[in-house]
Amino acid sequence: MKPGEQRLTREQVGGIVKMLGLTTEREFDCGECLQHVSEFAEAQLAARPVGEVIAKVEQHLALCPECREEYEALRKILAAKIL
Ligand SMILES: [Zn+2]
Repeated sequence: MKPGEQRLTREQVGGIVKMLGLTTEREFDCGECLQHVSEFAEAQLAARPVGEVIAKVEQHLALCPECREEYEALRKILAAKIL
């Protein structure tokens, strides 16, 4: 094995961290989450497949109790409208 063969470059590490969603909170903040949270709630209720942005909302909700509360409230309102 050549020396340094298994070292990851800074870019590679960044890519892995990103892939794991560890930087989600920093890159996708509460403001952005709340902008899209209604789309996410609607997609959930309609069982629609979620897009890339909405997937980020989902990740953010998993990390952020405040936004999750917002989402729960919204989902109840939407569900009441549908029923
Ligand atoms: Zn948040």
